[in-house]
Formats: sequence, structure tokens, C-alpha cells
Amino acid sequence: NPEPFTEVTENAQLFADERVRVLLPLPLGEAYDYALPPGMTVEAGSIVEVPLGQRRVTGVVWDATPAGGKVAAEKLKPVIRVFDVPPLPEVGRRFVDWVAAYYLAEPGTVLKMSLSAPAALEPPVPTVGYLRGEGDPEALGLRLTPARRRVLSVLADGPPRPAAELAREAGVSAGVIKGLADAGVLERVAMYDAPGFEVPADAPEGPALSESQAAAARSLSAKVRDGFSVTLIDGVTGSGKTEVYFEAVKAALRQGRQVLVLLPEIALSAQWLERFAARFGVAPAVWHSECTQAQRRATWRAVARGEAPVVVGARSALFLPYPDLGLVVVDEEHDQAFKQEDGVPYHARDMAVVRARLGGFPAVLVSATPSLESLENVRAGRYDSVHLPERHAGAQLPDIEAIDMRADRPPPIQGHGQSFIAPSLRDAVGETLAAGEQALLFLNRRGYAPLTLCRACGHRLQCPNCTAWLVEHRLVDSLQCHHCGYMARVPQSCPECGAEHSFAACGPGVERLHEEVKALFPEARVALMASDTVTGPAAAARFIESVQNREIDLLIGTQIVAKGNHFPYLTLVGVVDADLGLAGGDLRAGERTYQLLHQVAGRAGRAERPGRVMLQTYEPVHEVIQALVSGDRDRFLAVEAENRRKAGMPPFARLAALILSSPDEAAVDAVARALARAAPQGEGIEVMGPAPAPLAILRGRHRRRMLLRTRRDIAPQPLLRDWLRQVEVPGKVRLSVDVDPYHF
Ligand code: ADP
Ligand code: ZN
Repeated sequence: NPEPFTEVTENAQLFADERVRVLLPLPLGEAYDYALPPGMTVEAGSIVEVPLGQRRVTGVVWDATPAGGKVAAEKLKPVIRVFDVPPLPEVGRRFVDWVAAYYLAEPGTVLKMSLSAPAALEPPVPTVGYLRGEGDPEALGLRLTPARRRVLSVLADGPPRPAAELAREAGVSAGVIKGLADAGVLERVAMYDAPGFEVPADAPEGPALSESQAAAARSLSAKVRDGFSVTLIDGVTGSGKTEVYFEAVKAALRQGRQVLVLLPEIALSAQWLERFAARFGVAPAVWHSECTQAQRRATWRAVARGEAPVVVGARSALFLPYPDLGLVVVDEEHDQAFKQEDGVPYHARDMAVVRARLGGFPAVLVSATPSLESLENVRAGRYDSVHLPERHAGAQLPDIEAIDMRADRPPPIQGHGQSFIAPSLRDAVGETLAAGEQALLFLNRRGYAPLTLCRACGHRLQCPNCTAWLVEHRLVDSLQCHHCGYMARVPQSCPECGAEHSFAACGPGVERLHEEVKALFPEARVALMASDTVTGPAAAARFIESVQNREIDLLIGTQIVAKGNHFPYLTLVGVVDADLGLAGGDLRAGERTYQLLHQVAGRAGRAERPGRVMLQTYEPVHEVIQALVSGDRDRFLAVEAENRRKAGMPPFARLAALILSSPDEAAVDAVARALARAAPQGEGIEVMGPAPAPLAILRGRHRRRMLLRTRRDIAPQPLLRDWLRQVEVPGKVRLSVDVDPYHF
């Protein structure tokens, strides 16, 4: 990681000058100068409204010392107003600058992520909330219908709720609520923000820790007092990593500092939230893309005022305006979800470390299958590590076996057709269900079938906008492109040869597996969990609850079931296609597949019940399958690391990708050639490509990729800046830079 550009000091000097520099959350190269009208005072970080052309834009007073400015003072437009919210702290502004410089993005584009709750800036406008009132429904002669009863039970033990939220929670229409209020059973109150997040006075004691857990917790808690550090908590699933970092959270809270916990799938993390609330006696503030505007606004304000002691969020929570962040935890640090691919392509784990360094506090990275990047940082002494080698209370790790699909072929099922479940897995599912336990069949593929082809001529249905096959989704009766969202019906006749009703599904998706399982186990209660069948946090929470309450026997799911949830009665995991992630040949495929399958396997047998995991594979000797079966993680990672070192790839070198795209293929190629001619050269510097990007056509745009590779001790940013300055890119070609690309 490169060095921070500036020392961070609190420097909130008030301006008396009549000129201020304001950074706007727009893709602009730099901050603009504005005039400060007489009588208006601002400080560095003040959030202001300024004119830009015909528009009014919200921006941030950026520098402590305004530069001389190119525009004459009398030509400057005046600041319109200053918002009544705390200024964006110095460290938050330096973080925006740092991220922008590292990823070659405009600072304004990065700032936009910090101002992501515009409503939070306005003085709060009350909304109407409902409380249980004095009126007794019986006395008022109001019949207590089930719907009315549900409304009252939701309100029985809670703060006031706005109508929409109440209606959703109780599962009633707005009319039911209005009726109760008009009758006087509910009382209307004015609500400003969502309920606040209190500081836990002192967290209740956690469980008594084992010796190795206690040692890890002590070392982390000590670091909270010692400024910047990075520690990797490396321990098997169920070893108590969460209990251990909770101790560090407690230590930071005791010092009165804020804590940020990043989770890869926060919308699916109801269990984590419950566990946090049970441990600390308060719910943390939650921040992710599915939060409502009202929630965002409440959280943003609470964070800015220092009133949210703990924030748990997705990667964008890094950009909230913390005045006094004192600890950041990145749970499941290896997870791909931390890499943002759109907008500014940044890696939230890496930027969490940068944020910790700028703020002078510890970062804690947590995983059972750490990334090669983090392990290399530990090996090289840049990061510390603590190990938790055993599952808590002697719980057994699941027994993992491979099913060789070449020998154990699934025979067709009578009256159903093709099968994708080997006889041995079928038997194991049967035994599990007979024992009253639960089974999970994992297949990381949404929809019914990944490929649809014409039986007469072999024509395959492809997306008209992308180099990708269309995926059949039978539940919604359509073909879909998973890259651009294109949708169509399965055609009646083949567009190529004209044959009627000739299309056949090839290969399984989870919907097809669901169908097969229902034919095989007609008695079992089967449920399907994929991102398009279980949408949103509430649906996910209900789903997970029904598994825990044993209302489901057999679970079919994509990777969203793999994340974090704990199912005590789940004892069998069958991975239907363990080879799936290994195809395609990107250099991270082995590491990623290992991490995913290890995490899926960890769903089996977490309580007293031992678990069993079966991996269906056509390549049982593959090193990833072997590593899972033998449980020899460290040997596998050592081999992977050695391969990367030999290939001269990250973490042993630095990479930056340039992606060029345009609807006009010739224009893309022309820019690619010009870039190739101007490519940086030198010892330890190499440019690969141009070559078709992994998705050669996406949304109708032709894509080319070039990779800049440098030795670890050479920063690619100055080379990239120089390089890009030399090449003219016409308007119809889009050039994006991805520093530290996830795929290579
Ligand atoms: P990890 O984060 O490594 O998967 P957890 O912290 O979630 O592990 O622990 C797994 C389970 O074991 C949880 O239910 C947790 O409450 C329990 N557990 C872990 N350590 C202890 C302990 N020392 N005493 C009691 N329960 C523990
Ligand atoms: Zn498409």
C-alpha cells in the first residue's frame, strides 16, 4: 500500500477570507472557488450549497487555505448557504483525496459517496408516526379483526412507527391503520428521525473465552489503544472469531470512539445483527444499499454527530462522516463483494486499511479462508495475525468427500427425466431427511438452465447485447441475460433453422434442481434461495428463520446461502457442481472456488451434530477439491501463492487494468493501438494486451483490456497518469481504469 499523502491533523480553521474552495460531488478535476458573502462563516469541511450554471449543488469546503484562484475575486459566484450539519472531518476529506488519487478517479466522484444521503442535510421534517393510544377497541365497539390485532401487537412494545413501516410489519393495508387512528385506538405523533442509537453504557459480559480466544482478544483490545495497526484474525468457521472481535469493539467503545464493521452481505446478516444486539444491548446503525431514504438520513446524521457508536455496513459505509472512528473490522475479508466494480472501482478491505492509517487506529481483517493478499501481508510482516485453530467446544469440522461423477453417474429419474444428483448424494439426502435433519444442495447458478439450444440444429440462444448465453428462468417464464438484464420469451421456433418447439434446456440451474428434488423427495419441504427468489433483507430474514424453525427440510441455494448464517439442524451439504467456478481460467479461480466451497461446507454441522459435505466433481484430483477433502488449507494456499509468484501476479506484483469500450469496434481498436504505442516502459514495468476483455461485448459495447503490471515497489499511478495524458480518447470511447482488478 502506498504511503498516505499528508499527515492528518485536525485543522478546522475558520475562514474570514472572502474566497473558499468547494469540492462538488461531480466528476470534476478539482475544487472550484466561490465567494463568501459578508456575514457568512464556514470552516474546512463545511457543507454548503453553491450555484453551478443554472443549478444549485451541494459541496464541501475543501481546503484549509484557499488557493489564490484563477478567477478574479469579483467574478466569483457566492456561496448560497451553509447546512446546519457538522463539517466533514479533516480525516474524511483526506480519505476522499487519497482514494481518488489511488484509483485515478476525480475527487468529486469519490466525495459523492460521502454525501450519499442528501436528505440528511436539510433540517428534519417531521413525518407522522403511530403509537398505541389510550382508546380501548372493545369499549369503542371496534371488532378486533386479525389485521387490527397484528397492528396492535406490532405497536405493543415499540417506538412509534410511520404508517408505511407499520403497514409492512403488520402485513395490513394503510386503510386498517387509518381506521384504528380515526377511532382513537392509535395516536398520531410527529416523528423527526428514526430512533437514535444509544451508546452502550457498558456492554454485558460475553461468554467465557477459551485460552486461545482470550489471548487473541487481549492482543486486539490492547491494539485499540495503540494507534494504527492491521491484524488478521485467521480461524476456522465456528472458532469464535466474532466473539473475539466483539471484545475489540467493546474496548473501542469504552474509549468513547466509533466502530465500523464491514460485512459483505449485510442485507442477509439478520443473525449477525441479532447477535450484536444481544451482546451489546443495542442495535448498531445499519448502512447498505437497501436501506430506505429515511434510514440513510437518520444514520448519516447520527454518524456525523458522533451519535452512532457502531455502524455495520456494506463497503460504502467507509465514506460516512465519522468524527472519531477508532476501529474498523472487515469480516469475511476475502469476499469478492468488497470489490466495487462500478463507479469508482475500489476495494473496501484495502481502503479500510487506508482509512485506519489516516485515522491512526487499528484495522481488523477476519476470515476462515484469508485472501492471498492478506496472507502475503502477514508473511512480509506488514500485518499482524492471530490464529484460532479450533472450533469452539470441540465441535467437529465437517467431513468432506468428493463424488467422482465419471463413476457415479446420475441415472434418469422415472417420469421426470435427466438427473444431476449422483446416487450416493441422493442416498445421503434420504438418510438425512429420515433422521429429521436438514440438507442443503448448493449450486451457484441462478435460473433453470444456463444454456438453451435447438435440438434440430444446435443453435444456442445468445444475448443480443453481450457475449453471453441467455439463461432460462422458468419461474418467471423468460430468458435472461445475467449481464445486461435483457429478457425474452423462449422462441416458438428456432431463428436459425425454423424447427418448431425445438429448444431444450442444457445443464442445471437451481430452479431445475428444485424440480428434480421435488420429484425425488416428494414428501420433503423444499425451498429455493437465490437472489432473484428471495429479494430484500426482510424476505431473507424470513427465509432464514423458517430454516431455523425447521419448517424446511431441504434447502436449495446459490452463494447467498453460504454467507454467515448458522443452521443448527443442517447436517448435510451437497455441492452439485464443485467444478463450476474453476472453469474460465482466471488466475484467481482456484482461490475463489476454495473460499466459496469452504464457506458452504462450513454450513454443515455447526452445533453438536457432526456435518457431512459431498462435492460432485468430474475432476476429483484437482488441487482445490483435494485441498477441501484433505482439509490441508495451508498447503493449498502455499501452492497457490507459489503459482502466483511464478506467474508474477498479485500479491507479488501490482496490476492495473484499462478497459476501453464503445459501440464502435473500430474506434475501440484505434484507441487500443494508440495506447499500446504510448505504453510505459522500464525495468519492472510491463504492459499486456490489448486483448478482448473477459466479456468482449457488454450492453452492445465492444470491450478491450490492457493490463499494466509493475513490481511491488513501483506505484502504477504516476505511470498511468503519464500514459493516459498522451492518448486522445474520442467521446464515443469510454476508458476506465481499475487499479488492483479483482479478475486477472
Ligand atoms: P466464527 O466467527 O469463527 O465463525 P463465532 O464467534 O461465530 O465463530 O462462534 C461460533 C459459535 O460458537 C457461536 O455460536 C458462538 O457464540 C459460540 N462460541 C464461540 N466461542 C465461545 C465461547 N468461548 N463460549 C461460548 N460460546 C462460544
Ligand atoms: Zn446481455
